[in-house]
Amino acid sequence: MKYISTRGESPAQTFTQILLGGLAPDGGLYMPETYPQISHDELASWQHFNYRELAFAVLSKFATDVPALDLRAMIDKTYTAAVYCNTRAGENAEDITPVRTLEPDLHILALSNGPTLAFKDVAMQLLGNLFEYALAKNNDSINILGATSGDTGSAAEYAMRGKRGIRVFMLSPLGKMSPFQTAQMFSLQDPNIFNLAVRGVFDDCQDIVKAVSNDLVFKAKYQIGAVNSINWARVAAQIIYYFKAYFAVAKKVGDAVSFAVPSGNFGNVCAGHVARMMGLPIRKLIVATNENDVLDEFFKSGRYAPRTETQHTSSPSMDISKASNFERFVFDVVGRDAAKIRELWSKVDRNQGIDFSGTPYFAKVKEFGFVSGRSSHADRMRTIREVYDRYGQMIDTHTADGFKVGREYAESGVPLVCLETALPAKFEEAIRQSLGRDPERPSAVESIEKLPQRFDTVENDVEAVKRFIVSHVHK
Ligand SMILES: *Cc1c(COP(=O)(O)O)cnc(C)c1O
Repeated sequence: MKYISTRGESPAQTFTQILLGGLAPDGGLYMPETYPQISHDELASWQHFNYRELAFAVLSKFATDVPALDLRAMIDKTYTAAVYCNTRAGENAEDITPVRTLEPDLHILALSNGPTLAFKDVAMQLLGNLFEYALAKNNDSINILGATSGDTGSAAEYAMRGKRGIRVFMLSPLGKMSPFQTAQMFSLQDPNIFNLAVRGVFDDCQDIVKAVSNDLVFKAKYQIGAVNSINWARVAAQIIYYFKAYFAVAKKVGDAVSFAVPSGNFGNVCAGHVARMMGLPIRKLIVATNENDVLDEFFKSGRYAPRTETQHTSSPSMDISKASNFERFVFDVVGRDAAKIRELWSKVDRNQGIDFSGTPYFAKVKEFGFVSGRSSHADRMRTIREVYDRYGQMIDTHTADGFKVGREYAESGVPLVCLETALPAKFEEAIRQSLGRDPERPSAVESIEKLPQRFDTVENDVEAVKRFIVSHVHK
């Protein structure tokens, strides 16, 4: 399996060649040259697989240049009940991503039982093991630099902690994260994890990361890398749980199932699209956004207009103005015409919109099973309450957005799976506002705020961050 760029002007690469990088040299995103096709018989042969077996079945179609034994060993190390231990009543940790049934044909897929209580762990934990493996093979090392307002940073740190050849420098705005998020990150004592609390806001952190990464000499000399959401291996790892959930809820193999996905950078639902293109019988892929509704607007009207302003909402991990994985989907929509993507993204990259309304492209979007909706703060408060009153289950704000929109598209006789992308314990304030009580905390993080914290404070200054990196790389 080779990977090609959506912009068509970079050479095809193998899975391990694109593993550690970000964008292709031509500015595009890597995509598999073709989608592996899973026949009905092969699909049926997977239906009783456990998570690790399923992960191997799916990933071995994509990571064709990783020896099977090595891939299996990494998967077996990644997807264990001990790592995905933050289960609730009715869930079996062995399932890794268990399904809870609320009523016939209405299900929740629990993707947040990993160490940071959010779905990003599922892909990031695998990435940690893949990175360590690939670096060891080449006797190489990497210094991951990132900025976080809470969620992505912690998933990256928990995935990379203790990994050989990897250091993580994670910038966060000093004093701006919730006490829980702060404790999650700053309580890590691993010597390869560096938390840099920047005297500034999140945008300052992001600007510093951009400035450092744009200094190509520094970047090359200090082997600066990233773990952003456009990494193909992250998308690939997310394909697995669409299969897992399908087998958990379909009455028989071949029946159609729909998925509702709380979306931001379009990575999660893009994995659903790939699963469908591989032959998984998915009827609808329901894209749910919050008030930042650039994706909802596209799926309703055919117009994609990146915003200049991002609203801060109570489902903060979906607060985006431009969806970084969206180019992958549009590549398929335009029939993989790279020249067309170059033309479209020359506009998107200048923050201009693209418009498919009334074109055959928009018909293609529908053919791929996509529908969408939007959810507001009031919607998510009400949905959290309804789900709690009716089913006795507490869901977080992001999951509530997906649940609200998913229900609008539910069809009788078609199982609907709502993806749970975070545990309510991560968003205590919103839960308190909706339910008037605190969410339960998994025992693993019961008193995390009391643990000793380790971090360094730095000025809001690119040179100060560079100096920090230099002095900690040479040690
Ligand atoms: C990242 C995230 C999302 C959005 O996922 P995308 O892959 O960016 O669309 C939704 N919910 C939570 C809790 C997240 O952390």
